[in-house]
Amino acid sequence: MLGPVILAASRSDRMRRLISAAPVTKQVVDRFIPGETVDEIVPIIRDLSDRGLELTMDVVGEDITRPEQAAAARDAYLALIDRLKELELGTRAEMSVKLSMFGQALEGGHELALANVRPVVEAAAAIGTTVTLDAEDHTTLDSMLAIHEELRKDFPQTGCVIQAYLFRTEADARRLAESGSRVRLVKGAYKEPAEVAYQQKHEIDKAYVRILKILMEGAGYPMIGSHDPRLISIAQELARTAGRKLDEYEFQMLYGIRSDEHLRLAAEGHRMRVYTAYGTDWYGYFMRRLAEKPANLRFFARSMLTR
Ligand code: FAD
Repeated sequence: MLGPVILAASRSDRMRRLISAAPVTKQVVDRFIPGETVDEIVPIIRDLSDRGLELTMDVVGEDITRPEQAAAARDAYLALIDRLKELELGTRAEMSVKLSMFGQALEGGHELALANVRPVVEAAAAIGTTVTLDAEDHTTLDSMLAIHEELRKDFPQTGCVIQAYLFRTEADARRLAESGSRVRLVKGAYKEPAEVAYQQKHEIDKAYVRILKILMEGAGYPMIGSHDPRLISIAQELARTAGRKLDEYEFQMLYGIRSDEHLRLAAEGHRMRVYTAYGTDWYGYFMRRLAEKPANLRFFARSMLTR
């Protein structure tokens, strides 16, 4: 019940100001967003990589309101890629981007987001790695998928994310699987209306399995973005049935969530990529993590009260 309320708060400027200013917030935020600057995040990247994990890096930020912010987002990713070049990790450290941070919601936003994200994809390719376009709320998806298709003409390894809770996703998955794309499948983290999305957990889980089967049987590269133990073992089974080798799909989880499982899957020989977010504009990302698990909210509230 709390999830939808927190997701509504994740889009409220008033709540953003209130929560971002609370002194205790930082300690709780650090669990999910372990740095604010490139200098702070580089040791984390090294550490995860030394433990046999791969990474997808997210500079936090979304829903920007001015074109200068979109240019700043592009530059933040370019600065990160400059540092990744020194680490020589290749595809072991890729980038995840939210197009709303690249100007997608502004006037002429589709073209603006494409113009801002292209140099990031180019710079990533120049150091031998890739970019994945995150999925945001359903109103942005046609634009995201069109940008993905456009980028793939020059950079076929560009990935995208699809969300199992949306009714449209089975059809999107079929098209992407046929075209041989890298695709991350997630359950979906936004507050979506019943006209476009399943609302019940069991319906979303069933859709996830149907869609994953399409991806595993297709020509692309499936990326299983979930912490759900049941879905992870189903994914292993589906990969086996589809005859996929261990390097023909990968698991992805978020930094700070089920970290033991990251290591367990990597130790079993799986490709395990940790979605690692950093930066100062963490509010939206953090609130979605609270919404996913009520225990996180209780912990957050307790820290506030016991100060
Ligand atoms: P759940 O059933 O929610 O969780 C399974 C178990 O995982 C829980 O019982 C709990 O033990 C643990 N868990 C899950 N979430 C949390 C949490 N926040 N805190 C603590 N424990 C938790 N969504 C999008 O809409 N667009 C994206 O682009 C996107 N990218 C993602 C990238 C990755 C790598 C991952 C892993 C998720 C991404 N998501 C994205 C979020 C996703 O949609 C889900 O909201 C999120 O993963 C929770 O769903 P679950 O599959 O882990 O299953």
